Amino acid sequence: MIQTKPADIERAIRNVADFPKPGIQFKDITPVLADPKLFSGCIDLLIDGFKPGQVDAVVGIDARGFIFAAAAAIRLQAGFVPVRKKGKLPYQTHEQEYDLEYGTASIAMHVDALKPGARVLLIDDLLATGGTAAAASSLVQKLGAQILEISFLIELKFLNGRDRLKGHKVRSVVVY
Ligand code: AMP
Repeated sequence: MIQTKPADIERAIRNVADFPKPGIQFKDITPVLADPKLFSGCIDLLIDGFKPGQVDAVVGIDARGFIFAAAAAIRLQAGFVPVRKKGKLPYQTHEQEYDLEYGTASIAMHVDALKPGARVLLIDDLLATGGTAAAASSLVQKLGAQILEISFLIELKFLNGRDRLKGHKVRSVVVY
């Protein structure tokens, strides 16, 4: 039984208006991370239903996704693989461009980060328009790995990010 409820996590998420620019309601997860019970509980909720041995790698998205994905990987006795912003990974990479509100951005993964057929959980802190997670899932699939599920701590439902992730199982713990 998971002790932590999504509502407990929701209460701890701090909404910061107009960060990093006017009009954005930034969901600050640092109060969740700072609370030992909530941090542990949100990992339980992100991986609920998966057991050690069922997942080969947890892929986390730069940068807040790393926090949750690394903790989930340890719980599941799986490896951790970072998807980073372009230009940060030292070895050969595959890159995937995606749209931002204005312009584009690129994320990258090492070419040997996942074995073909690897069973992968993809984790990020927040699903907004879905562009970042869709680009990350393309990178995972380029290596021939299999995405079991894409999990987010927070989903901003009004931005319809799930539409960009069609064909994948998507989980979010707290929905706004
Ligand atoms: P998107 O590609 O639009 O789904 O954006 C998702 C990424 O942007 C995630 O990695 C989030 O960390 C970040 N993000 C977008 N909107 C917010 C928000 N309102 N609060 C905190 N992070 C956000």
